[in-house]
Amino acid sequence: MITREQSAASPSSTGALLNAQGDRESFVCVDQIINATEVGIVVIDSQQQVVFWNTWIENMSNISQADALHRSLTDLFPTQISPRLINAVDNAISNRFATLISPALNQSPVPIFSSQENRLLNRPIPQMITVKPLSGARGEALCLVQIIDLSQTTKRERVLRKQAREMQQLATQAKEREVFLRTLIDSTIDGVITVDAKGLISTFNPAACQIFHYLTPDILGQPFNLLLSPDNPSISAAEPGTSSILSQLSCNSCLEVEARKYDGTTFPVELSVGSMEIDQQPVYIVSVKDITERKRAEAQIQHIAHHDPLTSLPNRALFQDRLDQAIALAQRNNTLVAVMFLDLDRFKGVNDTLGHHTGDALLKSVSNCLLECTRASDTVARLGGDEFAIIQPDINSIEGAVKLAQKVVSATASAFSIDDKSIQTSTSVGITLFPSDGQDHEQLLKNADTAMYMAKKKGRNNFQFFSREMHEEAQNKLKLEQDLRAALEKSEFFLQYQPKVVLSTGRVGGLEALVRWDHPQRGLVSPGEFIPLSEESGLIVPLGEWVLERACRETQGYIDRGHKNLRVAVNISPVQFQSQGLVESIARILHNTGLSPHHLEIEITENMLMEDVVETARRLRDLSDLGIELSIDDFGTGYSSLGYLKSFPVNTIKIDRSFVKDVVTDKDSAAIVQSIINLGDNLGLKVIAEGVETRDQLQLLRQLGCHEIQGFIFSRPLPAADVESAIARINSCDVIEPNATTHRWRVLGEA
Ligand code: C2E
Ligand code: CA
Ligand code: CA
Repeated sequence: MITREQSAASPSSTGALLNAQGDRESFVCVDQIINATEVGIVVIDSQQQVVFWNTWIENMSNISQADALHRSLTDLFPTQISPRLINAVDNAISNRFATLISPALNQSPVPIFSSQENRLLNRPIPQMITVKPLSGARGEALCLVQIIDLSQTTKRERVLRKQAREMQQLATQAKEREVFLRTLIDSTIDGVITVDAKGLISTFNPAACQIFHYLTPDILGQPFNLLLSPDNPSISAAEPGTSSILSQLSCNSCLEVEARKYDGTTFPVELSVGSMEIDQQPVYIVSVKDITERKRAEAQIQHIAHHDPLTSLPNRALFQDRLDQAIALAQRNNTLVAVMFLDLDRFKGVNDTLGHHTGDALLKSVSNCLLECTRASDTVARLGGDEFAIIQPDINSIEGAVKLAQKVVSATASAFSIDDKSIQTSTSVGITLFPSDGQDHEQLLKNADTAMYMAKKKGRNNFQFFSREMHEEAQNKLKLEQDLRAALEKSEFFLQYQPKVVLSTGRVGGLEALVRWDHPQRGLVSPGEFIPLSEESGLIVPLGEWVLERACRETQGYIDRGHKNLRVAVNISPVQFQSQGLVESIARILHNTGLSPHHLEIEITENMLMEDVVETARRLRDLSDLGIELSIDDFGTGYSSLGYLKSFPVNTIKIDRSFVKDVVTDKDSAAIVQSIINLGDNLGLKVIAEGVETRDQLQLLRQLGCHEIQGFIFSRPLPAADVESAIARINSCDVIEPNATTHRWRVLGEA
């Protein structure tokens, strides 16, 4: 590049150069500037000799100004540069042209100085040399040569360019990372929400929108607490504007809370929170998972594990758990807990006669009935089979339990309508109270079970409280069972007989044999107590055989002594009836004792007929074929199908004592007795009433058409030795006058 320039300069030194302007301070200053500058400055005169050489070029060439002065350019500059330089200097001095000698871009740079001492300029690095005309103080033509080391500039540029490139790269990477993170956040199935230090929402991803039903623009800037149900304890405690749940969460990894949708509905979520600092302010990154489905599944599993599949009532495990809670509550409040153990009476009969489908339906109906009887705070559980239990927590007196028990007993005693059939059932209930009857669920339930057995024993369809006496009785029961095993061998059993009087003749037609146990310590033990025990232990089979054998032998004795038409009735327990070889055993006993089969009558209970209909019918027929009479005991209390009754070879039905007891006072009992008698008449069966104690009862039963009477009114059960005299006394009394309309009954014991 060449430019034409006019300028003036003074030769030999900057001092001289600036002295001409007559300013000493400026001179010092300009001199310092020229020597401090990072540019090489050389002044050449018209003889091509150096007249000025600044400090920079001294340092670079290692040639002092004193040494350089008045030397020629060819001396000082290497041959590669000196011809171009001389030419340019010549041009500047002669033609007043300025010249720029710069390295071509594609040309490798050349060293300017040839000297070995030269440190910098000898290196092949880019240089730029400008040559300009200058005028000396006296107007002589001079030339200014400036040498600029481009290597420094290039280096700085390179560093800057590199830095810029790196920045660019970082920016690109950051941009890419942000896009990546955004895509990640947007495509994740979990809701991702960021919350600032003030508890305000700053990011809300699409999944969060789906979970909470908010649109992103609507929720941004809103408090995070808006997304949580106010029912969460940590929310109500939170100060407005801050989210204590978040600060709480940053220490915990995960928390399950109730969240709130746009429309206000609440649902469970799992929150996990991370926190970081941006500009020294905390930012929370909340990840939200909707766990409604998981919770539902968990609840379902919980329900299955803790509920009875048929009735959906709590099962035993949940019952125990609830009872533990009720006990803890009662301890705190100083109140009582009632525990009721319920057992359906004769449920097996329903199951066997009407089938399991009906049995199941009945259990469901009973469970609904129990739920209707109880309050929401009570627990009704099914413990298994036909066993239910109720917890009545936090009651103040025993009356509360009595009321509920009465309600349960009366509600379950009414008929249930199942598949268009009306099914009658009843319940026996045993009750324990915390704290008096037990300290824990196990003891309370066990004792309630004992009390329930007491209720069964007291005739079912009632409730009984567990008491200390009952507990002791349970202990005694164990002892009694042990004693019972030895009783047969020790001959502690004997029979009593109770006469049955034929109303049409007023004479004793038969006897019922009733077993007695003379316990060495306890004295007479009631059969009501030891028969069920012997049934449980299986002892009833040998005991029953003993009773049969003894009854047959003693009756044969009465016959031999003149009571020709006497019949003996022997009670056969269901367990004994179903035992193997019953018919053979009876046949053998009859043979051994010599008693004719028509002098023997078997009493079986009504329910037993229905236990296993086919097998029962077969046995009854076998017995009937032997010539034995069959009587249905306790008639009216169980479920017997009249159709079956007709097909069984039954001779007699025995009206249960419970109906006889109230026959005079209770219209319903009278109606039942009447219909049993009518039924007997229609089926050609003999009807006998047991438990007749009063003359009014006797009179009414006779009017209703009953055939035979058994009861204290004629005789209590008597020892074998007293039977004959009793028969004689009954027969000799003018007890009954056939066809009499008004008469006074003269019965045993009366004058
Ligand atoms: P069950 O077969 O119904 O016997 C009639 C029960 O009524 C007898 O009680 C008898 O003493 C009682 N009784 C009779 N007349 C009256 C009366 O006028 N008023 C009252 N209140 N009671 C009266 P017991 O002897 O205590 O027998 C109870 C039950 O034990 C019997 O009821 C029977 O089921 C069973 N049992 C008795 N002996 C035997 C036996 O040898 N074998 C079997 N398997 N069971 C027996
Ligand atoms: Ca009987
Ligand atoms: Ca009876």
